[in-house]
Amino acid sequence: MANKIPRVHAREQDAKIRITNFDEVCYGYSADEAILEASRCLNCKNPRCVNDCPVNIDIPEFISQIAKNNFVQAAGIVAQYSSLPAVCGRVCPQETQCEGSCILGIKNEPVAIGKLERFIADWARENNLNFLEKAQSNGKRIAVVGSGPAGLTCAYDLVKIGYDVTIFEALHETGGVLAYGIPEFRLPKKTVVAHEIENLKKTGVKIETNIIIGRTLRVDQLLDEEKFDAVFIGTGAGLPKFMNIKGENLNGVMSANEFLTRANLMKAFDQNYDTPIYAGKKAVVVGGGNVAMDAARTALRLGSEVTVVYRRTEVELPARREEVIHAKEEGINFSMLTNPVEIIENEKGWVKAIRCVRCKLGEPDSSGRRSPVIIPDSEFNIETDVVIMALGTSPNPLIASTTEGLQINKYKCIVVDSEGQTSRKGIFAGGDVATGAATVILAMGAGRKAANAIDKYLNQNK
Ligand SMILES: Cc1cc2nc3c(=O)[nH]c(=O)nc-3n(C[C@H](O)[C@H](O)[C@H](O)COP(=O)(O)OP(=O)(O)OC[C@H]3O[C@@H](n4cnc5c(N)ncnc54)[C@H](O)[C@@H]3O)c2cc1C
Ligand code: SF4
Repeated sequence: MANKIPRVHAREQDAKIRITNFDEVCYGYSADEAILEASRCLNCKNPRCVNDCPVNIDIPEFISQIAKNNFVQAAGIVAQYSSLPAVCGRVCPQETQCEGSCILGIKNEPVAIGKLERFIADWARENNLNFLEKAQSNGKRIAVVGSGPAGLTCAYDLVKIGYDVTIFEALHETGGVLAYGIPEFRLPKKTVVAHEIENLKKTGVKIETNIIIGRTLRVDQLLDEEKFDAVFIGTGAGLPKFMNIKGENLNGVMSANEFLTRANLMKAFDQNYDTPIYAGKKAVVVGGGNVAMDAARTALRLGSEVTVVYRRTEVELPARREEVIHAKEEGINFSMLTNPVEIIENEKGWVKAIRCVRCKLGEPDSSGRRSPVIIPDSEFNIETDVVIMALGTSPNPLIASTTEGLQINKYKCIVVDSEGQTSRKGIFAGGDVATGAATVILAMGAGRKAANAIDKYLNQNK
């Protein structure tokens, strides 16, 4: 019977209204909606959803507690596996992970695991519940570099088994991409991100901001002079890629990273701040991932008419489906099978247009996706004032270049084994810095694995 109930869809801000503000698009579930949605779960004996969750949350158990209106128990179960549930419930690509393998999805719509996780995390926050634990100190000190999801997860997993953990963060804000990348309308900074980090701080994790490891202090100084017993590097992949085409250095061209950081951290969208950003009357965003969707929807909210230019088709768009649907509802234009070849300058050295070529799909490339093939003589111009490049990012080489013997690969990622151990004893790494740009939950999974490896390493070296 249970699976006959249709999936409960979460309410959202109307598209016409939300493009005029930066408030969260999705309202999430009410308690009644959450209970109804939770009642759809079959509580499978071999739950496929758990296997496909990178942190293996006991999904059927927390959902069954929601169905029984036992919200405290449900929140406690989620907290055993994740210290960032309100974040994950909002931004994880559930459709390709837990929900992607939910048994109900075979004939029907899968259980809305993400929305239920979000509901229970928000409910715990609204009821001032914090389930994160702290333990008696074992006297060992760990330095975590970077306060993104990898660093935060590694820090919490270590603090809860007795380690004394200090996170060193280059920026003045903590949270990594959660704070400076993903926009407010998808992930509220104060209520959600800052709150989950505050909970973590209550467990004793110390956070030092405005410290660039590799510049202010080197990793070796953390070990030799500051006497940390081990170091975890979770510095992400914040270095933007460009196309290397003519005109990329014109005024009005920027990376999505710069654009989003200025919008998020410097509150460029808020007229009360002295740090505005120029989004132009028209903006072109190049790329098709989550970053491209975020940049496009931010530019739209700043008053631009936005076109996303992508060289493959909608089928190959790497962004989350939900984000693409939201972008379309909001009026973002998509120019598919289109590849820029030059950015054209006006008489004042600013962008005037972007010259593109049309493509068709050829044979699959190494990623398994059909590769774009340029159609000869197909050049055309799109008039625009701003071009935002959202072509992916790679790790900043600063730490690798200042830490002798720390091996990196051809993509500048730190080389680690399956546990997060680097080529240097006592130095561990994980998240985007080791994999290249990936997802929040994979970074969290990597932080967890490395915390286990650090514990094992320090126990072996007693
Ligand atoms: C715009 C955008 C949208 C995204 N949307 C999604 C999404 O919807 N769902 C999803 O799952 N993933 C999304 N991602 C990807 C996801 O955010 C990342 O995969 C994830 O944040 C990686 O976590 P991390 O901890 O490895 O690194 P980061 O989150 O990048 O954190 C690294 C931290 O290290 C700090 N740091 C860097 N160098 C140093 C140094 N030398 N010293 C001290 N600190 C340093 C940085 O300032 C940063 O705070 C998105 C990414 C972007 C950019
Ligand atoms: S696979 Fe779907 S139905 Fe089964 S336990 Fe997981 S969420 Fe529930």
